[in-house]
Amino acid sequence: ARRAALAASTGPGATADGHKVPLLANIGGPADVDAAVDAGAEGVGLFRTEFLFLDDSKQAPSEEKQVAAYRQVLEAFPEGRVVVRVLDAGADKPLDFLTPADEPNPALGVRGLRTLLDHPEVLRTQLTALAKAVEGLPVYLEVMAPMVADRTDARAFADACREAGLRAKFGAMVEIPSAALRARSILQEVEFLSLGTNDLAQYTFAADRQVGAVSRLQDPWQPALLDLVALSAESAKAEGKSCGVCGEAASDPLLACVLAGLGVTSLSMGAASIPYVRATLAKYTLAQCERAAAAARASDSAEDARSAAQAVLSGE
Ligand code: PEP
Ligand code: MG
Repeated sequence: ARRAALAASTGPGATADGHKVPLLANIGGPADVDAAVDAGAEGVGLFRTEFLFLDDSKQAPSEEKQVAAYRQVLEAFPEGRVVVRVLDAGADKPLDFLTPADEPNPALGVRGLRTLLDHPEVLRTQLTALAKAVEGLPVYLEVMAPMVADRTDARAFADACREAGLRAKFGAMVEIPSAALRARSILQEVEFLSLGTNDLAQYTFAADRQVGAVSRLQDPWQPALLDLVALSAESAKAEGKSCGVCGEAASDPLLACVLAGLGVTSLSMGAASIPYVRATLAKYTLAQCERAAAAARASDSAEDARSAAQAVLSGE
């Protein structure tokens, strides 16, 4: 048993019956790469590129600076998968030179992809830098946009990627309920989905992620959130495409099993959580995860969903 536990703490993510669920790392820059590699991450599922933009409050980093930073990350995962998210400025991540100062409600204003479509030169530089950074490397690069609301957004992003000559898969984050509801339409434009459950919870429950007083509604076990995850994963499956999770939800080992049971195809989290999620996932079969997911969705509160999933998985 000890050997089995040790084996489960390294190697690729999979259920007890061998259903693969790649475990990827969320990183904020090259400084996080070592921890991701040490934790046995199979790649990067969310590279938040905002860090590059924090040094200078007046302008975007140069193409050269970006190429160097992206290359450092890409080189760390030879043959692996690296999902880079283009700049997500605005709301909880304001940038002086890009974010409008006078918005009454920044979370509902110009942020994420909206910012980039208003500043196409910033998006172009980022995509061109990525195209140069990946040149000659065997890594499997995927690039995704934050805050995609609909097919029009997805098309604008895919067009920008093609125009930059990017050799990569283009994807959309599902962070807005409209994107989950119309996932199949968005998938006509892009090749994969990645659920940002932090923002998806915020927008589903009209509960600001920065306001502690409404944290009950930010709980990723909320059955309404699980329904949107299931809808996104089913839509991706129907289109023959993948749908990962890169929000905090993926770092809760029990919830990770439920997400796998809902049909999510990869899980990305802070490196420190990977061994726990790997070990827990390895204890249950996909069928058990599916039953736990069904029990969670049949509940009426986050608390009940968690207990119901726990009961199924512990065989009560
Ligand atoms: C999310 O919203 O779940 C997400 C992964 O993006 P961020 O937390 O950077 O907004
Ligand atoms: Mg987000």
